[in-house]
Amino acid sequence: MTRIIAVANQKGGVGKTTTAVNLAASLAISERRVLLVDLDPQANATSGLGVDGGLEATTYNLLMAGMPLDQIKCETAIEGLELLPAGIDLVGAELELVGGARREYRLRDALRDLEGYDYVFIDTPPSLGLLTINALTAAQTVLIPLQTEYYALEGLTQLLNTMQLVKKYFNERLRLEGVLLTMFDSRLNLANSVAAEVREYFNGQVFKTVIRRNVSLGEAPSYGKPVLLHNARSSGARSYLELAGEFLAKERKEADGQIQEQAR
Ligand code: ADP
Ligand code: MG
Repeated sequence: MTRIIAVANQKGGVGKTTTAVNLAASLAISERRVLLVDLDPQANATSGLGVDGGLEATTYNLLMAGMPLDQIKCETAIEGLELLPAGIDLVGAELELVGGARREYRLRDALRDLEGYDYVFIDTPPSLGLLTINALTAAQTVLIPLQTEYYALEGLTQLLNTMQLVKKYFNERLRLEGVLLTMFDSRLNLANSVAAEVREYFNGQVFKTVIRRNVSLGEAPSYGKPVLLHNARSSGARSYLELAGEFLAKERKEADGQIQEQAR
């Protein structure tokens, strides 16, 4: 079965796109088949994977015109990683969707007959508007990147409330995949205390892997590459590979738990 994971946090600059691109790439390197859906009008995941400019078909067409996936998806430089690119036209979708039929379900409907992928990651814009609602309605789980800084937990209540509302009205199965601490700087006492606070608040739902601040991670998008292709030896590349390992291990553990549950 394909697992669909939305990467969401309505704050900008917390590492959503970096996480979506590099976790997706790391899983593809681990021989999983992965699709990345860019649902942000800024299209950073699209350009970050080296797909750029003059696209004829984007996620706008997927949401607004029901265009088939095959006409939109692109290959990337990483084998096993495909992309549904975004373009600036997606800005209009947020407004155009307002009066539309099944406006919260457009992405879910579009992904319904999806075959051949192990994972779909959805990169979302920094807002809790209809694009993000579409992502949360289509997904089984939400991965929340949190920048390890003083205001990390601020605004989180809004995101958790939105998840509850989506769960209640549009997507019963939605649950938290996990919280990821990003841009961590261990030299700062502040970062350590924020990390401790987040772990206490989310009690067991925070990934053990922490993404540190790393120059290569910041540079890679300007080369249109995941960090693995830009600088495979960097701490950023290693961190996202480690995250992929933890993600897969957690999934195996949950699957084992379900089997044991059924056997009882
Ligand atoms: P979001 O998608 O939440 O807006 P991004 O993933 O685009 O956030 O990250 C914001 C900026 O910070 C980008 O320029 C990105 O390259 C950079 N960045 C993200 N994570 C790291 C990191 N761990 N170390 C250094 N720079 C990072
Ligand atoms: Mg982004």
